[in-house]
Formats: sequence, structure tokens, C-alpha cells
Amino acid sequence: MEEQASLFDMMDEAPEQEAAPSEASSQELAQAAARIKKLRAEIEHHTYLYYAKDAPEISDFAYDSLMRELKGLEEKYPQFMDPSSPTQRVGGYVSEQFTSVRHEQRMYSLDNAMDLDELDAWLARVEEFFGHMVPVCCELKIDGSSIALTYDNGRLVRAATRGDGVTGEDVTVNIRGVADVPLALAADATQLITRQEGSIELRGEIYMPKSSFNALNAEAELAGKQGFANPRNAAAGSLRQKDPGITAQRDLATFMYSIADQRSLGVNSQWDLLQWLRAAGFHVNPDVKLCNTGAEVREFCANALKNRDGLAYDIDGVVVKVNNFDQQDAMGFTSRAPRWAIAFKFPPEEKTTLLRDITVQVGRTGKLTPVAELVPVAVAGSVVARATLHNVDEVQRKDVRIGDTVIVRKAGDVIPEVLGPVLSLRPEDATVWQMPTTCPSCGSHVIREEGEVDFRCISIDCPAQAAERLIHWASREALDIDGMGEEIVARLLESGRVRDVADFYTLDAVELSQLETGRLNKEGQPITLGKKTAEKLAAAIQDSKSRDFWRVLNGIGMRHVGKNMAQVIAGVYPSLEALMGASEENLAAIDGVGEKIAHSIWTFLRTPDNAAVLDRLAHLGVNMQADAVAAASVTDELAGLTFVLTGSLVQSGMTRDEAGERLKAMGAKVSGSVSKKTSYVIAGEAAGSKLDKALSLGVPVLDEAAFLRLLESRTLEQ
Ligand code: NAD
Repeated sequence: MEEQASLFDMMDEAPEQEAAPSEASSQELAQAAARIKKLRAEIEHHTYLYYAKDAPEISDFAYDSLMRELKGLEEKYPQFMDPSSPTQRVGGYVSEQFTSVRHEQRMYSLDNAMDLDELDAWLARVEEFFGHMVPVCCELKIDGSSIALTYDNGRLVRAATRGDGVTGEDVTVNIRGVADVPLALAADATQLITRQEGSIELRGEIYMPKSSFNALNAEAELAGKQGFANPRNAAAGSLRQKDPGITAQRDLATFMYSIADQRSLGVNSQWDLLQWLRAAGFHVNPDVKLCNTGAEVREFCANALKNRDGLAYDIDGVVVKVNNFDQQDAMGFTSRAPRWAIAFKFPPEEKTTLLRDITVQVGRTGKLTPVAELVPVAVAGSVVARATLHNVDEVQRKDVRIGDTVIVRKAGDVIPEVLGPVLSLRPEDATVWQMPTTCPSCGSHVIREEGEVDFRCISIDCPAQAAERLIHWASREALDIDGMGEEIVARLLESGRVRDVADFYTLDAVELSQLETGRLNKEGQPITLGKKTAEKLAAAIQDSKSRDFWRVLNGIGMRHVGKNMAQVIAGVYPSLEALMGASEENLAAIDGVGEKIAHSIWTFLRTPDNAAVLDRLAHLGVNMQADAVAAASVTDELAGLTFVLTGSLVQSGMTRDEAGERLKAMGAKVSGSVSKKTSYVIAGEAAGSKLDKALSLGVPVLDEAAFLRLLESRTLEQ
């Protein structure tokens, strides 16, 4: 077996070069090293967002492409290989919220084939390994989260997530609320358990059905909360809840497909294992096939791709596994995945649909965005009816016309995109779209400032801007009014009760409870918000009054002032009064502000309508000072020192913002870039160019452990 494994290793690594590779120049090596470093940092960052936060920022396809590029470079330049590279590890994360559990046997990831050629290449390797094709078991690749269930003498005793493959999170209490996980194995099935101690660990996927995902996100939207990006994230996030009651409400389900130690059962193949799992009382996906040829495997993949929309759950590919356990053993594992299995990943999904119209959305700063109104089409697990076209230039560049059949893409995640028209299907009467000359919301003339790509409505009374401004004020990064979502804002505007953000603070629970939600009950009567929701919302409005001053500056909607800028300004002018006293020059002199932003802030504050709203807010009790409590409790252990944070603080799970706040509370300054003046750089995992710069400038670097010790002891180690 030793020999076979090394033969396989060689095949894995067989380079494609025909001629001997020429000696790489030192410049090429330096470039490769830099790119490898950058890719590793980028992948680590997205791995963290995906597994720890359940909130990916890039598509799976894009992530896999980065991984592939890294793998290619590491193969080409083996001198830069590192066992801790993401290509060598199972991606995952163990939160401190849960007790960690060491898996009895490692939980692996899967290598993937991005297209049929790569699938064929894997099949060819299997055939070469054994000297002939062997039966393979094809299963759907369920797009959920891995789960390991341990049964002791037939009873469920533990459930764990995959984590980093070696250690997972103990989610036993949460899993008990998942209806289709048997608490005990069917008695007949236990007879096949061969382990003396009778304990077996079974593995599978926990997922959220598409319909439950859509319902959950609709509910979140109504409550003004951020929904999940896709059913996979919803499943992982729902499973990893602190409150098991929430997990139980989330309608999660499982498909089981594997066992940790194959020798703990008297079965010899994947196919037989699936039958046993079924007999033991688990849900096993019905769509499985034992294939004897590559053609059968390809046919299974093609059918899976064709049928995926009709399934009640998301799949992101097909898993092909050598069926016989002895043959699996012969092929073995790499450090992150079995060699005896491959995941054929579906390409990012694209659909065609009709572009019915292009409408214009007015943002809170008056920016006009063209939006494609589509005949609704199911793409990658959710229905797409609208997609942003960004700006006029983009519409022209893509040459999409109203009446066109367009290609819509959604790469397994968040934002749908119109790729372009199918020109051969363009009808004769397809209409070229033009940006309207007046605002669709208020009818004012729209302008495009020189050098700007966007058109804007600059009317102060524009209702569409009002809605966006109200939503922004209530958003998490501003005054954080929990429950004040798009729909409630729309109703409040319609009812005429709220016109600007100060009006929020004149609402009470009684009035809110009468607010119509815009939906009707079975009897055709309007549904109102109701007492409980109204009380919660009214309390959230009250709570928001005491938030830190920078949130007001972010929430009020000054052009060019977002969260970071608001914090910078509040750091220098810690109250409305102080800020009102600042001249345009004073503002421009603040580090990082400059003339353009200073002009925007100054003009905003001097505009009578805006000043009146700020004045009313202050009279209604909204805090207009940098957090008084925090200010009083700021200590001076780190006074005079400037810190820069980089990388992910995976040990503590703190965001960089949170870590920055902790440093500021000890009197430190926190900066976004490294310079000679930086006192310390705190480098978490996958720290990137800032760490390099710190090292090159000789700035001292603290790792996360040292940072945590600093927080605890409140002194810097010598
Ligand atoms: P993977 O999802 O590619 O494949 C391995 C997993 O597939 C297994 O752990 C198992 O949970 C699951 N699976 C589903 N059905 C299965 C079946 N029938 N048999 C066996 N396993 C089955 O690998 P991964 O390590 O879990 O995740 C890596 C993938 O996650 C990447 O390829 C990428 O697509 C995605 N990812 C995306 C981002 C992002 O930012 N978008 C970040 C990290 C990871």
C-alpha cells in the first residue's frame, strides 16, 4: 500500500511541462512568493468570513479559483510550500462559543473538479491506480454544513461540526432540536455494529430547505434585519446558535452519507453503508447511483445539473466516491481530502430571461441607479426578479435593451448580475434605454456633475431619498434601531407620520401598534403591527437615543461620510456643538478628511433644513456627544501609542473594529496604515501587506495571544 500511495503522489504531482523547466529568475521567484502570500492571506480571510461568520463576500466559484491558482503556484514553486497553507488544510473554524470536540477520526474536505475534463482526469487516475475502472458511487453534493453524530450503544450522545477537521464544535444540544436526527438507532441496525464499545460516529450534511430559507429571509427583511446569503449559510448559522430554541425553530434537515471508522460496521462499501444508514433510521438522499463507467458518471452529473432547480434543497455538485472500502483504503488521503473521492462542482449558474424594463432607483444621497426588471427566474437557489445595472455607462457597455433576452448569473451567492443580451434573440422593437431627465420619485431635474459617472437628484424634498435616508439612519452601522426595516419605513412615510429622522423620536408604542403593514388577513382586513412588535420597536427607538455621537454623523447622511469617516470626525470634534464651531479649513485639516469631504460636511451643516433636523434630534433627546460613559472610562495606559490592526483575530473571534475599540479605551490611537510613527502592529491570522510593512520598518509586532495578554494585564510586555 505504501508503494501505491507514493505512485499516486507522483501522478498527482506530474508536471505538465514538456521541456525541462528553465531556472526561475530571482525576480520571478520574488513575484511568485509575493503572489502566494497574497493568495494565502486572501483565502484565509474569505475562509474566516465563510465558516466563522456565515457571511461570504465572494462567490464559491471565485473562492475555488483563488484556491486553484494558489495550488498551481505551490506545485510550480515547491520551495514555497508550507504545511499551514490553506491548500493543505481543511477549511473551518471553531468558535469559543461552543465546547470544542476532537474528532475521533479526522473529517476531511473534498478535492474538486471544476469541469468535466477535470472529472475525467480524476477517473483516469483511479483507473490507472487499479489498472482497470472500479465501481464508483455517485451522490448529490448537498450544499449545507458537515455534521458528525456519535451514537453510544445506539443512543445519540454527541453532535459536532467539522471545524478544522481535527477539532469541531459541540452542538449536541442544538442537534436535538433537528427533527430528522434519530435520538436512537433502529434496534435491527445496531446488530451490524462491530465495535466492542458500541460507539460509532456517523457523518452527513445538515441543510435548510429552500422554502424555509426564503421564509426565514422574508421574516428578517420585515424586521429590518440582515438575512442569510444562501441556504448553506442559513443552515450553518442556525446550527451554531447560542440558544438551542432558535435552532429548533429553524426547520433544519439532514442527509447522512458516511461513517468515521468504516471498520466499525459490518459493511464493505459506500453503497452498503447508505443502505445501512437508511435502515438505522436516517435520511439518506435517494438520488444515488453505482456507476461502472466514466460515461455513467458524466450522465449522472448532467442529470443532477439539469434537475437541481426542482429539488427542495440546494446542491452544489456531485460527489463521486470509489465504492469499495478496501479500494478506498488503498488510495488513502492527502492532508486535506481523500484521494478516493472527488466533488464535481457545478459551474456558476446562468439563466436567460426577459428584460421587461429598466427602472431607476433613487438612493439616499440622490444617486440614480438603473435596475433591470426581469421576468422572475430561479437562479442558484433563489428567484431573481431584479438586478442592478449600476450606471448609464454600464447599460451602454453591456448594450442591454428593454425587450432583450438577457443572461443572468448568480454564482451560488448574494448578488445577481445581468451579463448581457442574447443578440440573436433581440426583437426588432427592443428599446434603447436612456436615463430620465427628471427624478422618477419627485420630478426634479437630474444632474450629472463633471467627471462623475452617476446622475443625481439634488432635491431635498425627494421622497425616495427620504426613505433611503430613514433606512440608513436606523441601520446597524448607524443608530441601530432593531426592527426598523424597509417595509415599516415605507408605511411610516406613506402615513405621513414620518418625514425625517427626527420624527422617529415622536413615535410611541400605541401609535406604532396601529400602523398598517400593507398586508391583509384572511378576511381582507389590513394587518397592523400589533402590540408586541410595536412595544419592541418603540423600545429600540428609545435605546437608539443614547448611541455614540459618531453614529449620528454616519446616520445623518452627509455625502462622503461613512462609518470610518464619522468616527474620525467625532474623534476630533466630540460633540455637535464642537463640530458646528469648526470652519471648513479646520475640517479639511483633520487627518484623512481633505477639502472635498470638508466642503461636503460644512455645506451640509450650514443648510438650514439639515441644521433644523439636527436641532430637533438634540431636543428629542438623541445623544450629540461622543460616548460620555466611554469617554469617562478611557484610561491612559496606552496614551501616546498608535496601533495598527491586520489579519483575523481568530482566537478571540473579535472583529478588528472591536479590538480597536478596546485599544482606544486604554487611550491608544488606532490607525489604518503602517508608518514609521506606528508604535505597534497587531497581526492576527493571515496578516498581509501591513505586516510586511511593519517588518520592513522595524515596527514591533504583537500576535493575537500577546494582544489578548495586553488587554488582560493592561500593560505592554517588555
Ligand atoms: P466542499 O464543500 O467543496 O466539499 C466537502 C464537503 O462536502 C464535505 O465536508 C461535506 O460536508 C460536503 N458534502 C455534501 N454532500 C456530500 C456527500 N454526498 N458526500 C460527501 N461530502 C458531501 O469543501 P469544504 O471544505 O466544505 O468547503 C470548501 C468550499 O466551500 C470551497 O470549495 C468553496 O466552494 C466554499 N467556500 C467558499 C467561500 C467563499 O468565500 N465563498 C469560503 C470558503 C469556502
